[in-house]
Amino acid sequence: MKYVSTRGQAPVLPFDEVLLAGLARDGGLYVPETWPKFSKAEIKSLRGLSYGDLAIQVMTPYLGTAIGEGNFAKIVSDTYAAFDHPSVAPMRQLGPNDWLLELFHGPTLAFKDYPLQLVGRLFDDVLNRKGRKVTIVGATSGDTGSAAIEACRDRAAIEIFIFHPKGRVSEVQRRQMTTVQSANVHNIALEGTFDDCQDLVKALFAHAAFRDRYNLSAVNSINWARIMAQIVYYFWAGLNLGAPDRKVIFSVPTGNFGNVFAGYAARRMGLPVEKFIVGSNANDILTRYFETGEMTMTDVVPTLSPSMDIQISSNFERLLFDYYQRDGASVKKILEQFRRNRRVSFGKARWRSMGNLFEGHRLGDNETQDALAALYNNTGELLDPHTVIGIKAGQAARASASSAESVTSPVVSLATAHPAKFPDAVEGATGQRPRLPARLADLFDREERMVSLQNNIDQVEQYIAGQLEGSETA
Ligand SMILES: *Cc1c(COP(=O)(O)O)cnc(C)c1O
Repeated sequence: MKYVSTRGQAPVLPFDEVLLAGLARDGGLYVPETWPKFSKAEIKSLRGLSYGDLAIQVMTPYLGTAIGEGNFAKIVSDTYAAFDHPSVAPMRQLGPNDWLLELFHGPTLAFKDYPLQLVGRLFDDVLNRKGRKVTIVGATSGDTGSAAIEACRDRAAIEIFIFHPKGRVSEVQRRQMTTVQSANVHNIALEGTFDDCQDLVKALFAHAAFRDRYNLSAVNSINWARIMAQIVYYFWAGLNLGAPDRKVIFSVPTGNFGNVFAGYAARRMGLPVEKFIVGSNANDILTRYFETGEMTMTDVVPTLSPSMDIQISSNFERLLFDYYQRDGASVKKILEQFRRNRRVSFGKARWRSMGNLFEGHRLGDNETQDALAALYNNTGELLDPHTVIGIKAGQAARASASSAESVTSPVVSLATAHPAKFPDAVEGATGQRPRLPARLADLFDREERMVSLQNNIDQVEQYIAGQLEGSETA
């Protein structure tokens, strides 16, 4: 298996090089040259596997010869053994035909642990075999950062720099990052929004001399390996509900479109999925696009679901690549136009075709609070604000469904975070303060370590260089 860039001008690379590269050199994102495909019989043969064994089967077609079979099996089994629930990703029934896929049983309580715990180990494995070191830089609106830090801490071949928008992540999220005392972990509170953080990281990558000198690499959702690892739980949920004999609908609280794109990849591999519901908060660029056919950039507003407070969904580029018949030059052109004009449409035919598979729904903060309260009052259940957006979006989609199939297919909502990650939002809506699980019980007593920097590329580069050169001479 080889990988190509969505902008068509970067070198074609094998899995291990794509893993280390993150963003492609032409500014695009790596995608597999072709989608591997399971037959119906092959999907049937996956029934009953443990999460770890399923993960090996689903991901192996993407690896080529880069990792080695036995080696990969060991890495996967180490990864998911560290999760808190024996089934790794338990499913709970919410209603007659409604299901919750719980993806918060990893070390930092958000779904991002599912890919990142694996990606950290893959990095370690590949770097050690190649005798190389990398500097991981990443932007986070909260959850990616802590999950990446937990995945990379204390690994000798990795230094990790994580930028979060100052004052715009929850205290639990910030502390999950800043209380990690490992010497290879560097937290930066940036004066700006998440999109500023993301743009800054992109600018670091675009500065070729800096990028090459410090071996920059990324683990946010532009990294293909993360998407790959997320494909697994779509198969897991589908198989649990009768795949390949029954279609399911997935409802996904969405920010950068990474999670829902992994679902799309699962479908390309043969998993029968009828529809993807894209849930958004007030930062609803995707929902507006699916509604109107026009994508327009607006400023980011802070919400109760900060991990979805984004202006542009970077992984949408991977979807566009397929809808543009994998023509990188066209993708590059249209996205440059979007950057310039802050608005774009991808043509009526593409919009209609995407609309057959994707549907957007938005929830404002008030509706999110009402939904949290109603859920608690009716069921005693505390969920996090992101998850509730997914559940409500799924219900709204079902209520407005036009086809009989949409009404009868099971809806699986992805629970993307544990409620204790967002205690203020949950308490504000329900009067109940969710408690942190035992392994994080003393989080508020731990010492924090971070620096605060202006949104200025020169200053940021200076800081990174200082830390790296310093650690080499120390
Ligand atoms: C990251 C995150 C999301 C958004 O996922 P994308 O892959 O960026 O679409 C949703 N909910 C939570 C809790 C998250 O941490």
